[in-house]
Amino acid sequence: MTVIRIALPVPLRSQFDYRYDDANDIAVGMRVEVPFGRQTMMGIVEALNVKTTLGPEQLKPVCKVLDEKPIFSVDVFKWLRWCSQYYHHPFGDVLQAALPVKLRQGKANNFALPSKWRLTEAGLATDLDTITQKAPKQATVLTALLAGEPIPPGHSAPSKALEKKLWIESYTPQLPELNDITHCIEEHAPLRPSQQQAVAIAAISAQSHYQSWLLEGITGSGKTEVYMQTITPFLKAGKQILILVPEIGLTPQTVQRFERRFGVSVGALHSGLNDEERFSVWYQAKYGHIAIVIGTRSAVFTDFKNLGIIIIDEEHDNSFKQQDGFRYHARDIAAVRAKQLNIPLVLGSATPSLESLFNVQQGKFNHLTLSQRAGNAQTAPMELVDIRHQDMTFGLSPYVLNAMEATLSRGEQVMVFMNRRGFAPAVICHDCGHNEICHGCDRPLTIHLAKRQMHCHHCETVEPLAQSCSQCGSHNLHYQGVGTEQLEAGLQSRFPHYSSTRIDSDSVRGKHKLNQTLDAIKQGKHQLLIGTQILAKGHHFPDVTLVVIVDVDSALFSADFRAYEQLSQLIVQVSGRAGRAQKPGRVMIQTHQPGHPLLQDLVNNGYQDAAQLLLQERVSNRLPPHSFQVLFRAEHKDPMACLDFLTGIKTIMSSSPCTMLGPVPCLIEKRQLRFRFQLIIQHQDRSVLHQWLSHCLPNIEALPSAPKVRWHLDVDPHDFN
Ligand code: ADP
Ligand code: ZN
Ligand code: ZN
Repeated sequence: MTVIRIALPVPLRSQFDYRYDDANDIAVGMRVEVPFGRQTMMGIVEALNVKTTLGPEQLKPVCKVLDEKPIFSVDVFKWLRWCSQYYHHPFGDVLQAALPVKLRQGKANNFALPSKWRLTEAGLATDLDTITQKAPKQATVLTALLAGEPIPPGHSAPSKALEKKLWIESYTPQLPELNDITHCIEEHAPLRPSQQQAVAIAAISAQSHYQSWLLEGITGSGKTEVYMQTITPFLKAGKQILILVPEIGLTPQTVQRFERRFGVSVGALHSGLNDEERFSVWYQAKYGHIAIVIGTRSAVFTDFKNLGIIIIDEEHDNSFKQQDGFRYHARDIAAVRAKQLNIPLVLGSATPSLESLFNVQQGKFNHLTLSQRAGNAQTAPMELVDIRHQDMTFGLSPYVLNAMEATLSRGEQVMVFMNRRGFAPAVICHDCGHNEICHGCDRPLTIHLAKRQMHCHHCETVEPLAQSCSQCGSHNLHYQGVGTEQLEAGLQSRFPHYSSTRIDSDSVRGKHKLNQTLDAIKQGKHQLLIGTQILAKGHHFPDVTLVVIVDVDSALFSADFRAYEQLSQLIVQVSGRAGRAQKPGRVMIQTHQPGHPLLQDLVNNGYQDAAQLLLQERVSNRLPPHSFQVLFRAEHKDPMACLDFLTGIKTIMSSSPCTMLGPVPCLIEKRQLRFRFQLIIQHQDRSVLHQWLSHCLPNIEALPSAPKVRWHLDVDPHDFN
């Protein structure tokens, strides 16, 4: 009998030991089914022959072994264990998060391509002419197979009939082997790299061992081209490639660009796939049947047969941080993985995160720069538009409206960027002053006029549009402020001869709709583009020559220390949409704070300069990346319960050298009736912080106040909401 330790997907940090009678057919990294409480649960074998604290009568047997071979390779297993320790998150949960849903459900780890028909010898010998007369549909099938073409849809009955005649048979096509794929890699029509591109390509592809590169290239400078030419030698050497992109950056166009260039199929991993599709990419990458995987955050967990390089595009993007459950940062754990596999890592961005710039300063990352746009395109100058004392129309100043008019009359496109969905962010009663609020969150409800609804943007609450004041019954209700819906309606009436389109998560549900709208914009079907940050990401709109950023002021006074950084990134990314082709572009930023030093620096000296300023500020305030943080967040209907728990943590940690900030209310103080508080623990030395945390965590979990609240721990937090 063997005692084995199983990692189970439960929030407890305890160890779970079971017995298994045949030690020969079990190994670390296999999936097993074990009894847990009254049910059975799928877990992963963590260790064999462990010394258990359980007595023989307490040890329950493993019910079933689900795999013949470990589902995790040794290196992935090791890496995930590191992740579990670093994020102080239960190993069993980390392992499950790294598996495709289908495998989490305990289903078999096998995959085959869909079966196909082929002609038998008898089928090859038949006389097509006579069949064409007697059974034209069967003849269509035979003709297609003879020509090696796909059988047209709606021909399954005639195919079955042909199978009965033994003229055709079904077979399962073989999955291609990695070497066969990479053997025929050919670069189709690579562009002639610019001097700067050539330097970057040569530098990165000269190394096959671990090395981190920050590729800082302004929007449109040809980073994607650099990625493609960089990976060519890796592919030719039989290696696989992992490319991580932000959530809204992965378009079919990106995937096609790689497929066309290399003539191989690319595995795309994004939220629009079903479980079967995700599993198929995971499987083919792991066993070496595809060479390139492009995916969003969770694609970082893809196992590969022979991974050669990891590329992270738009590395500053917040979507790389998982915000619930196992709260990892895909960029950070990818770096650890690259180091473990001893392969290069490339981080690309027009607006690198302060973390990565700091790593460059520290000599941990190599810096490569692309400072010119590809072709002859010029970068668009930014200007601050002072809106103090201005007569605003649906959020826009007269100066901006005039510039829009001039742009439209030249036949060019205008993009207006506003980070607020809906018609108006609040409704107020003009008679009694009452604000309609979400009772779960104590925040104003946003008006969605077209849907005749009011939405809470903090929770999912939807209410019918108020016709009268819920306090005094008056019908004299005023909508306050402007959202994208109102902006669009206003612009449409102001510029009736031009077509407008709105891109926000209300107007474009689903990838398909978004891509349709983006195509329509590129074909010039719309002249006025109104949107939220969805518009800010990597799309090319060659005819957009004016970009307007409606409101930046709220971010200037945010309590979140990353707000400045994110605002600068957003402004520069949005500006990157302007004047990409031959036509010069302009960027207008409306603000009540035209003298604000950050805005001034950004507009006059660019992102690099502004980022250095921000980094210095972080140093003097001892904030990340100059220090490291973990955050405890607690939620409960009774604010005292949260405070009790967080104060308890503070007491436990008080003997440590760490700085503690809080407990304070989160930026969203209340959500769905629960009050929300946080405690930040900080130290300049990451290892000191983590050692103390590991040391104190068992006591924190044992606090009597812990089970009363809903709480979690966030390592390197990015979100203070
Ligand atoms: P980024 O990823 O930096 O935004 P892309 O790689 O998408 O930039 O390139 C922007 C545009 O410039 C694309 O249309 C691309 O085809 C073109 N481009 C990139 N590199 C070159 C080059 N060396 N010569 C000509 N055009 C280029
Ligand atoms: Zn009222
Ligand atoms: Zn709410």
